[in-house]
Amino acid sequence: MITFRELGLSADLVKATESLGYINPTPIQEKAIPVLLSGTKDFIGLAQTGTGKTAAFGLPLLQLVDAQKKYPQALIICPTRELCLQIVNEMDLFRQHQEHMSVVAVYGGASITQQIRDLKKGAQIVVATPGRLIDLIERKAVQLQQIRYVVLDEADEMLNMGFQDDIEFILENTTARESTWLFSATMPPEIRKVSKRYMNQPFEVTVGQVNTANKNIDHQFYLVSHHHRYEALKRLIDFHPGIYGIIFTRTKIDAQQIAEKLTRDGYDIDALHGDLSQPQRDKVMGEFRERSLQLLVATDVAARGIDVKDISHVINYELPDDVEVYTHRSGRTGRAGNTGICMSIVTAKETYRIRTIEKMVKAPFHKLELPSGKDVCRKQFYSFMDRLLSADISNDNYETYLPMLQEKFAQVSKEEVLTRLAALEFDRFLKYYENAEDLNVRDNKRDSQKGKRGEARDNQGGRSKRNFSDGDTVRLFVNLGTKDGFYKASFLQFILDMSDLKKDVLGRIDMKEMNSWIEIEKSSAKQMIQSIDGKNYRGRRIRMNDANSR
Ligand code: AMP
Repeated sequence: MITFRELGLSADLVKATESLGYINPTPIQEKAIPVLLSGTKDFIGLAQTGTGKTAAFGLPLLQLVDAQKKYPQALIICPTRELCLQIVNEMDLFRQHQEHMSVVAVYGGASITQQIRDLKKGAQIVVATPGRLIDLIERKAVQLQQIRYVVLDEADEMLNMGFQDDIEFILENTTARESTWLFSATMPPEIRKVSKRYMNQPFEVTVGQVNTANKNIDHQFYLVSHHHRYEALKRLIDFHPGIYGIIFTRTKIDAQQIAEKLTRDGYDIDALHGDLSQPQRDKVMGEFRERSLQLLVATDVAARGIDVKDISHVINYELPDDVEVYTHRSGRTGRAGNTGICMSIVTAKETYRIRTIEKMVKAPFHKLELPSGKDVCRKQFYSFMDRLLSADISNDNYETYLPMLQEKFAQVSKEEVLTRLAALEFDRFLKYYENAEDLNVRDNKRDSQKGKRGEARDNQGGRSKRNFSDGDTVRLFVNLGTKDGFYKASFLQFILDMSDLKKDVLGRIDMKEMNSWIEIEKSSAKQMIQSIDGKNYRGRRIRMNDANSR
């Protein structure tokens, strides 16, 4: 196998790869590094995230730019702030033996003044998201005259996100550009167009197959009816006690609602979506990386570019509309040679899409049965026994307490102690799964289930938006809104919890940034106002009254 030294990298960079524990170059590194080190060739690398592409362009860049010259010589453009920070983190590790080299990140959602200050210190390499870079160019805070190398990372994502004009603007304004290196997981026609317009006979390298998901991933799907999606999700999580994963939803609202429900059900989970402020996103990501969160519910846009090691499972709460998005989602697991599992919760109507995705990723999907309640309890029990037996008891303090424990338990048998321990851990599961129904949709049952579903739906009569006749209801005003971090579901839960009323007394709810209006049965209005008006929410006094009496 070839080594990093043989690829032509300098001693300080080889040393950095060694201290990072990289033994051999990955295929994209092996193919790209020697070509990129020439410094004059345009390059297209078709590679997914997780293939080691950051080092494939990062290491040659660090060798090519002149560390003695204190101005930007290379630009790395990427779609999201998360990716931007990840690239800089990796570059910082690669340049650990290069004393004068500096890499700066500029991205939206953070103080531009601080970034201007960072740029003024004289970084040789700037890693940027397109929007913020243009802002800085317009303010003349970043010099482009001496930029010799431009890297476009996750180019397909940038075009998907509508950055085409920005990218073209940047390429047009880097007039001293000697080479353009483009990395992309897929090759849609728009990228071909950009490459034709701005690149000169690029050297093209494909790692694996374009549009092909990672081969280390086991693709599984579970067939359920639509209204069992959440139950199915819970069951999958409970059946995998050590899971460390990302649940993908199609909408921000789903992400938020699922995170809220699972938190209420006792899971370490949070949501990552576009409505969060940058500090909120950082906090969530930080907690997920440190593993104080076991699960993250994310929308596709928010999760772009996230590189978190050792994600064991990706769960598609719903399949994405765009089959290419599936590749990006599943690619969050099975990284850097590890194996991973991508599970999709699918309804009968959606199964045809499984076939399409199978064709695209050129990997088979395995149809699995959702575990029964008993299966879940058994699995949890085994995991509990493993944890019990492998608990670290090396701390000397336990010896101090042991006599006390022995005295207290002198009359209690070993069986009883074990049963009590198990009860502490398992009561929640045993109770929940005691009468758990079979959630699998089976072919022979499908028709009869469909009938039942129809009935159930008809009987609900639009639960969340009841139609009252005029005169039955009043409209309440409340000075809480989306600005306070509420979504409709969380707001509904909040007012119902506070007032101890049932959902069916409510009609339409209109939420605005600062205020909301609640349609409610006349007979329950007083109870709601009395329990909420004058209370505090996050340090602010809540005002609630009859909207017509204002
Ligand atoms: P990337 O495709 O750049 O997102 O890289 C995915 C992961 O692979 C990162 O966590 C890298 O640190 C790791 N990695 C990159 N190159 C190598 C290598 N040659 N050997 C082992 N791990 C690597």
